[in-house]
Amino acid sequence: AGSQSRDISVQGTNDDAQISKLSCANLGYFKDDFIKYFVRRSSKRSPLINRGYFARLLALRQLLQQFFDVISQSTAPHEQQSVAQVLSLGAGFDTTFFNVEVDFKEVTQKKAAIIAGNAALHEQLGPDAKEKIHPGTIQTDALSVLPADLRDVKGVEAALLAAGFNPQLPTYVLAECVLVYMEAEESSAVVRWLGSFLSTAACVVYEQIKPGDAFGRQMLMNLESRGCPLRGLQATPDLKAHQDRFLNNGWQRADAKDMTTIYRAYLDPAEKRRAERLEIFDEFEEWHMIQDHYCIVLALNDASGVLQDFGFK
Ligand code: SAM
Repeated sequence: AGSQSRDISVQGTNDDAQISKLSCANLGYFKDDFIKYFVRRSSKRSPLINRGYFARLLALRQLLQQFFDVISQSTAPHEQQSVAQVLSLGAGFDTTFFNVEVDFKEVTQKKAAIIAGNAALHEQLGPDAKEKIHPGTIQTDALSVLPADLRDVKGVEAALLAAGFNPQLPTYVLAECVLVYMEAEESSAVVRWLGSFLSTAACVVYEQIKPGDAFGRQMLMNLESRGCPLRGLQATPDLKAHQDRFLNNGWQRADAKDMTTIYRAYLDPAEKRRAERLEIFDEFEEWHMIQDHYCIVLALNDASGVLQDFGFK
């Protein structure tokens, strides 16, 4: 029962993330016409939280865009159709519209039901999409949403293959605040499985680091009190551990940066200036502390050489 209630709490972190993303969208931090349909009770977040989500979303959007730019540069125009794909692990109610999304059945069931019940959403999936939405599963050409437990990598692989996922295609894998909720051995197993399943892939992880200092301990306690301890954090407490998790599990390259560095050096300056004017903001000390406790890891396996130029830029 303990582990079941933990699973339920972990699934609940999805609602929390989407409320924050809606708060950002409502305030103009970024455009998202669809997130409102996935939040039952909206709530305006503090400027600190909003700015953090803005940084997270912009950084991840920039990386995804760069991935497709690199792929299209190395691909002849006539081959452009379906030359790459995006797989989101623990996608929750993310609205980015990834090609393939995996989450617990309890979550995909809700997502499928929301999309089926909303014309603005299922129209995005092309004609007759509604017939391709079943309890817990969506299977259209544009988007597959698949129920699976990431702790069972063979089950995930089987679900992907059954849905027509092609492991030979260059693949962008996103794990945004997901692996950290799993035990260290379980998340390493995911990384190892991805490394052997996909020969040309970029894997992008966004999650917490530095559990050991005062702020880190506070962060852990907050989540623990809500029933979802960050189980994996002891095994990936810093940037090097994050890199090593990939390098020791079948990946050729791995680079990790904290969000303070990413905010300062990699986010589009014009977007930053625009966002920084949206709300009065004076919690600079806390802001730096929070950003120091999050990181993005970018790992590559590049059998075909198409991802040579992909990295933090
Ligand atoms: N990636 C989304 C985002 O950032 O907006 C959602 C993040 S939410 C914090 C974590 C998600 O991971 C939840 O939707 C949860 O159900 C999913 N998740 C955690 N452990 C999982 C597992 N073992 N199998 C499948 N999904 C899992």
